[in-house]
This record gives sequence, structure tokens and C-alpha cells, in this order.
Amino acid sequence: MIHTSIDLARSGKQQGFLQVPYSHNLGGWANVMVPITVIARGEGPTVLCLGGNHGDEYQGQVAIMRLAHEVAPEQVSGRLILVPSLNMPAAKAATRLSPLDGMNMNRAFPGHPEGSVTSQIAHYLTTVLFPASDVVIDIHSGGRSMEFVPCSHMHLVPDKAQRRKMLAAMLAWNSDFSFLYADIAGTGLLPVEAENQGKLVITTEMGGGEGIPARVHRITQSGLRNVLIHCGVLAGKEETRAGLGLPPAILTQALHRDDYLLAPESGVFEVAVDLGEKVRRGDTVGWIHFLERPDRAAEPIQARSDGYLITMRAPCLTSQGDCVAVIAQEVSVDEVLHA
Ligand SMILES: [Zn+2]
Repeated sequence: MIHTSIDLARSGKQQGFLQVPYSHNLGGWANVMVPITVIARGEGPTVLCLGGNHGDEYQGQVAIMRLAHEVAPEQVSGRLILVPSLNMPAAKAATRLSPLDGMNMNRAFPGHPEGSVTSQIAHYLTTVLFPASDVVIDIHSGGRSMEFVPCSHMHLVPDKAQRRKMLAAMLAWNSDFSFLYADIAGTGLLPVEAENQGKLVITTEMGGGEGIPARVHRITQSGLRNVLIHCGVLAGKEETRAGLGLPPAILTQALHRDDYLLAPESGVFEVAVDLGEKVRRGDTVGWIHFLERPDRAAEPIQARSDGYLITMRAPCLTSQGDCVAVIAQEVSVDEVLHA
């Protein structure tokens, strides 16, 4: 059902839209317009760069818009497909979920050709853009709900050759932390669909919250460019952390339910340690305060594992069952490759 003027087989730079039919009260023939840029030249891999999977995560949207402006076909070997704001209605509304159908793009896969707007976009990726790609990059941050240590991240995919390539590409982001995560909240994720199609998939959590510091924009943009150079689609010299005078990245994982700390009651969350700081099992990571009960002691939230505080809840106001902190354990490259 999605229409586009873009011809994926053509060389050079094309800019257009994915047009998703959306009939509403004030527009019978209306379309949701999702901007797409394709830059292609000669032989090489096809790399799909996605931002705005969650609309309130702008780091990747800015980084990919920059590429759409700045990259010329002469700098490309293969094909770059750039979709800065995948969930465009959510990006315009600064929301995680689409305001049109209430759907989470990152739970909508594989999607449906006659489903709602979000479901149709997911289906287009599953059936058109993923099959056309070798590499899929999906740039997230914590949005308005979480604040992360800026990190590249990935799933521990079962195929060892695919895992090795994904690990190398993840580390090419050159962020201080990299993170292996588990899906503790549902199915239908974009990266899982791309991984199941055998693609090299790289994802990130570039900070979060509503204010984005300049250093977070910088690592999002320099990391993305370096990964594109690493994949061979963009001209340039690949940088390493050693070459930049930096220590090796801290590789971490949170694969167990215990690593994800949820609020036992509703209240105001106070964090006790800084992001990226080490904690030990039993340490207090934060507290829940009860606005209506100053007589009541704050409820401590304790780490159930040793590791780094990789992410925390961004808003203080917290409901029972919200994730307030994730503790990630350090792992070696060898452990990741052979696990
Ligand atoms: Zn996200």
C-alpha cells in the first residue's frame, strides 16, 4: 500500500517520501509522508540507517538528516538508504508511540500490508528495505523515559559468524560503553526481524531524556560515520579508540531479568549513583519517595547483580513496574563470541 517515487535501483542521490495512506476526518486521500534519501554509486554494500523508530529519540534523527545533506554520491561505494524519522507522526509529536494508532514501531514487526500506519511501515521494511540491505542501523536513545550511558548495543544472535560481524561493527561506534541486551518486554522488534533475515544489525542507546548534550550529538554522529566507513559504504579512514588515544570500550551485558530493576511502588525516584558507575550486588541504586507520606521512609532499590549502571529512569515521577535502573556486567570479547 506504500507508494514512493524513490527507485532503489538508480544511482546518484534521490530524496523523496514513503507515502502511507492515512484517511482521517479532515483528509480522505491523505498520506503520512516519511522522508527517505537514497545515495548510490557502483559496487558495495547496502546500508539502511534508521532514526526515530521511537519518535521522541532525536539523536539519530539529527545524525541521519546530516548524512542526507552532507554525503555526496562520490563518497559512497554501494548504497546508503537514509530514513531519519521512521515513525514520523511520533517524531512530530515528540512521543515514543505513534499518535495515529497508539503503536510502538519497535513492537510492530513483521507488520501488515493492510494494517495501521505503523504496521504498514513495519511491513514495508520487512518486505522491501531489509531484503535490499546488507546492514541495518537503528539508532535509539532513552527518549523521554530513560537516560543511558551513550552506547552502541546489540543482541546476542545465535549465528556465530553474524554475531562476530555485529560485534566488530558495534565496537566501531567507538563509544565508551557497548551493551548486550535482552528483550524483557515483548516481541516484534525491528532489529530482531532484520537479524532473522541474516542482516548485520547495529543499534544504539545514545543518552536520553529531553535535553541532549553536544557531546552526545558528537558521539552519535562520529560513531555513525565510523560504522559506515567500517562497513565499506562511506569513503574515509576508520578510526579506532586506540588511535583516538582512548582506553578500550567497556563491553557489558544485561541478559537476565534480575539486571532490570523495576519500581516496587509508585512514587518519586531518586538515583543514588551516577550513570556508568560500578555497583555491587546489594548496593542501593536509588530510592522511591512517597509524596503523600513524608512520615514514611523512602523505599531503597537494591542492585541484584554486580555491574555498571547503564541506564536509569529519566523522569523522577515513577509508577509501580516502571524500569528505574539496569545493571550491566562487564564481559570480554571472547565471552561474547563463544557464549
Ligand atoms: Zn527507542
